[in-house]
Amino acid sequence: MQVALLTVGDELLAGDTENTNASWLARRLTARGVTVARILVVPDDESLISETLREWSRGFDAVVVTGGLGGTHDDVTMAAVADAFDRSLVVEDEVREAVERTARAYREANPEIAERYEMDLDVEAWAEVPEGARALINPAGLSPGCVCENVYVLPGVPEEMRATFDLVAGEFGGDASSVTLRTPAPESALAPHVERVRERFDVVVGSYPRTGGDDNRVKVTGTDRATVTEAAAWLRERADVVVDGGTDEGAALDPSE
Ligand code: ATP
Repeated sequence: MQVALLTVGDELLAGDTENTNASWLARRLTARGVTVARILVVPDDESLISETLREWSRGFDAVVVTGGLGGTHDDVTMAAVADAFDRSLVVEDEVREAVERTARAYREANPEIAERYEMDLDVEAWAEVPEGARALINPAGLSPGCVCENVYVLPGVPEEMRATFDLVAGEFGGDASSVTLRTPAPESALAPHVERVRERFDVVVGSYPRTGGDDNRVKVTGTDRATVTEAAAWLRERADVVVDGGTDEGAALDPSE
């Protein structure tokens, strides 16, 4: 399964916010055997988001979008998704009730803030999803996500994004697996082995030079697990300095990451 990730937000482009959603999703999807084919950051620009989604929904098995949800002026993602599929935005009862429930719970939990500030929430604006889309009630916040055709729309707040992704994680899967090898040998000494393993086996090989005090890493990835294992073994035999870093596929991930 080939998946593309679109992260929306001016603050990501300015470097004000680190794009942790993209790396978290990429790790999660890769661990499920998915091939993450693209990661792109775009500004809060409705027509650019819409154009990208139109193209990517045809080019990939699924697209995951994060950020730009909710009822404030720079939240344009839902409108862009609706536009990409020529749909209008609608408010379903279940979603409206969830937004009202979350807003009420917030006011009850924060009575001082609720008293001090005018919190006139435009519930309809927060609850809108494209017509015919499957709404994803946000388990950790206000803005619902949705699934519209093969586009998965998730909130931008990392905690909310993770909780909403978990509702649909089971819909992502694939055959990609990998083995990472570690070695103190310099990249130049590894290069001939890497070249030959790529010729012999149907795998992708990444060679990543050390950062800090770490060893260099060679990562063998493919969609047939036996071929990946064989290619890694072949490499391990030839480049005798290589130490096995283990199989990455299905690696346990810390849910709090
Ligand atoms: P919500 O409607 O749930 O409040 P949202 O979908 O409107 O969220 P944004 O307004 O884009 O999301 O961002 C909300 C917060 O989440 C901001 O603090 C933003 O910096 C952070 N955020 C957004 N996108 C990302 C990302 N890709 N990685 C990490 N943090 C992000």
